[in-house]
Amino acid sequence: MRILISADMEGATGVTWPDDCEPGNPAWQRCRTMFTSDVNAAIAGFLDGGATSVLVNEAHATMRNLLLEDLDPRAQLLTGRHKDLSMVEGVQHPDVTGVAFVGYHTGAGTEGVLAHTYLANSITGVWVDGVPASEGYLNSLVAAQFGVPVTLVTGDDLTCEDARTYAPSAVTVAVKDCVTRYAAVCRPPAVTSKLIREAAEQAAALARRTEPVTGRTYRVEVEFDAAHLAAAADLVPTVRRTDTRRVEFGADTAYTMIRTFKTVTTVAAAAREADYG
Ligand SMILES: [Zn+2]
Repeated sequence: MRILISADMEGATGVTWPDDCEPGNPAWQRCRTMFTSDVNAAIAGFLDGGATSVLVNEAHATMRNLLLEDLDPRAQLLTGRHKDLSMVEGVQHPDVTGVAFVGYHTGAGTEGVLAHTYLANSITGVWVDGVPASEGYLNSLVAAQFGVPVTLVTGDDLTCEDARTYAPSAVTVAVKDCVTRYAAVCRPPAVTSKLIREAAEQAAALARRTEPVTGRTYRVEVEFDAAHLAAAADLVPTVRRTDTRRVEFGADTAYTMIRTFKTVTTVAAAAREADYG
């Protein structure tokens, strides 16, 4: 049993504020330890539950946040950015039997600690076939294409609720309860590491490959906070502007869907100005 952990930072223990997860800030340095603690707890739990190997794929910002020197030596870390499948790079390998979303958060335009979808503010909503889609939702579609179930989700309490929309049988752990986008009632790492470890051990029982999803199509709508970002996204082949701040595109596979979405976010981010967006 090989487990892939996709590790994002906004949903990590103790993280509630942009500085907590923006590389280079003193607060980020401090929070890296708690982020690594969450991931280590998941690694230990999956191994307790019978996993034979664990690969951790960093999925936050520059994707260079976890402290390798403190990582459970039984796991391996894929660190750094520019990866084919971004946050779920590795899920395409046929030996992966389950994926875990650790430190995840809710989607753009919804309640939740540091809620967003890819871009911190510029994207105000994403929908797949009309259904609101968080990063967890999008990544679960990619995992499903490769026959890999989502077994564990950790983040704030609203992230756990969101997980029920895309992975109803996944085990969830709320490491904090959302108060506002930048405030939460946090449980200390000594508590959350125990909760995550127990949950991951339970989640290991769900790690069984399923029939890969084929033959479905995906219609994705993306809404921005400014018109020129929709105009920029419209430059991407297959993407069409449908309203002042909205674009949409179709995809025949989740693989194409996530790659097109990533292209849209990259082009939109390049069109963004520092203060005015
Ligand atoms: Zn992130």
